[in-house]
Amino acid sequence: MKRMLLLLVAVLLLAGCGTQGGKNSADEEKKGENRTEQQAEQETENSENGSEDDPAEQEEKQPVEPMYRVNPVSSSIEPIGDAKKEVVLLTFDDAPDKYGVEIAKTLKELGVSAIFFVNGHFINSEEGRAKLKEIYDMGFPIGNHTYGHANLKTISEEKQRGEIVKLNDLIEEITGERPKFFRAPHGANTDFSRKVVQDEGMVLMNWTYGYDYFQPYMDAKKLTEAMVTGKGPEVGINYSLLRPGANLLMHDRQWTSEALVDIVKGLQEQGYEILDPALIETL
Ligand SMILES: [Zn+2]
Repeated sequence: MKRMLLLLVAVLLLAGCGTQGGKNSADEEKKGENRTEQQAEQETENSENGSEDDPAEQEEKQPVEPMYRVNPVSSSIEPIGDAKKEVVLLTFDDAPDKYGVEIAKTLKELGVSAIFFVNGHFINSEEGRAKLKEIYDMGFPIGNHTYGHANLKTISEEKQRGEIVKLNDLIEEITGERPKFFRAPHGANTDFSRKVVQDEGMVLMNWTYGYDYFQPYMDAKKLTEAMVTGKGPEVGINYSLLRPGANLLMHDRQWTSEALVDIVKGLQEQGYEILDPALIETL
């Protein structure tokens, strides 16, 4: 049973992020061995740069004590210490396409947050840049989902680096801030890309479940039910994947935008808090 569950989760991950459904995805994550070292480096950097910032900017960047961390193997969100366990993280990939700004506005009205994982090809026009800025200015963290949505397992190391670093440069140029989170298209990471992600100071995550990229759930009502129950019987998931720390994958799509209010309320009605990503430990 447990084995079957793992298999099904693997199938889910495999199908993640849409149509190309790469043969290599679902990679289990290795432990962040260099995390402590990285953190130390980051802290030194911060203290070197931080002292003479103008006060307005400092006020905006109040350091928040992390209360959660991303499990490097399962991508679920774990409390640090005695933080509330019944939380779920909302994430939106392939943004900002047609519905990203609308999704952000809906979340804002609901008083909840989410990570927007963006692609470079959506933000290399004036219109795209403006959308990204609008989402960022509403207070949502921007994650890196690669420049061109490449399957990192199929391209050279040099190109993998470009897919990741070039996008961070572009996002920083637009928002003034480099992403702190990374999610690979199709969940397909390589040892090399992991290293680049870490060198860029980002926390890598896949997800624990999502349904909006499966044909049967490209419908607001059906998607709501699947996200709120955690079950996707039409893609073989007959049991609930909803549990404390679930990392929910959604996309910049019409049916997702339409379903969003009901998804959020449905999760809250079951006692889950929508996690503020600002509480997640970064490097
Ligand atoms: Zn994607």
